[in-house]
Amino acid sequence: MPLKAIVDGETIIGPDLSVEEWTTLKSRHKKGLTITMGCCGAPGHLRISTKGTQHFYHAVDTGCNYEQESREHLEIKYQIYRTCKSENWETYVEFPAPDRTWISDVYAIKDGRKVVFEIQISTISPNVLEERDGKYRNEGIESYWLLDNFLERSKDFASWYHSHLKEEDDRLGETIPYIDDSIFETGPENHIFIAKGIRSVGLNAQNQTLFTTNNKEIPLAVWVREVLKGNYQHYLKETAAAYHHKRQLKNLAAPWLIEFREFYQKIIRDATYRKKVDSCYRIFNADKTLRKEKALQKKFDELYAEIDWLGKEYHSCIAESYGLFMWKKIPGKGVTRPFFRLESELKNRKLQECVKMFKQWEASFHSALGNLEREISADKRYF
Ligand SMILES: [Zn+2]
Repeated sequence: MPLKAIVDGETIIGPDLSVEEWTTLKSRHKKGLTITMGCCGAPGHLRISTKGTQHFYHAVDTGCNYEQESREHLEIKYQIYRTCKSENWETYVEFPAPDRTWISDVYAIKDGRKVVFEIQISTISPNVLEERDGKYRNEGIESYWLLDNFLERSKDFASWYHSHLKEEDDRLGETIPYIDDSIFETGPENHIFIAKGIRSVGLNAQNQTLFTTNNKEIPLAVWVREVLKGNYQHYLKETAAAYHHKRQLKNLAAPWLIEFREFYQKIIRDATYRKKVDSCYRIFNADKTLRKEKALQKKFDELYAEIDWLGKEYHSCIAESYGLFMWKKIPGKGVTRPFFRLESELKNRKLQECVKMFKQWEASFHSALGNLEREISADKRYF
């Protein structure tokens, strides 16, 4: 239902008229004054909504989109219009593009900034949303979508977001160990903005309030003022930047985390180093002559002590108190698992240092073990 009509060649916004002006217009219309709909040029009549909003309606069915617009749509449109005007923005309703490729619900201009509000009560498909938003973007207009079907469509929006995240991944389709993917979860307005750069907000049309991931109920006028001040856009941008940063940290940490897991397997799960020393020790112990060599026994003791030390180092790195990993309960599994803290470049560097330390240890272990093996086999040949 439109707020706008053309009377005597002039565009009129219904709610802008005083009660007196409205009554006069009504009686002039009864006497034959033509009212032309601003949307499609069809003849129209005037009416007051149950909430008291003065507006126009089509006298005949022309198939115009505005005929289907609900009462909620009308009221919300009017509230936005009023708020923009009260903030001293030059404001229009049902504002068409020069080539009529779009008509926006509310269009507001101030200091060169052009802002459009679109109320979407019926379900809109993500592709249509993207296409319609693209028209505003191409003209340098800052658009905001109030989506009543936000949650209904949330799965579509989430899949936009997740495929966008994948595009940014260095290691496509590879699961990176120690990453808690739940830290990348967020709500629809962020999904839409991060994936497509489209600004939106959840709309509860029935009580004319809005909602975001962190705020369940925002009064319409409050939100509109935040948009006009640039704060809402700032929130979307900041959130997107934080997610991109976390994603970057993940990409940078990935190779080190993979190596870290390999060390877990070698140090703890498979006890690879210990088994290597064990098998060498068995040869040493099986040989009566070799067994008597105190110096060799001492070298074995040293290697075992080294392995014990490495195990302790590993446990200290993975402990929560060390600051690199945090232990979280896995829902429904009754176990806790370590997750790397994707928090800063500093943490990433600390992780690198851990892995480098393990690598250095591994190199010196291999050379010590190699020497020992050579000594044993040389001795064996001797006797
Ligand atoms: Zn129309």
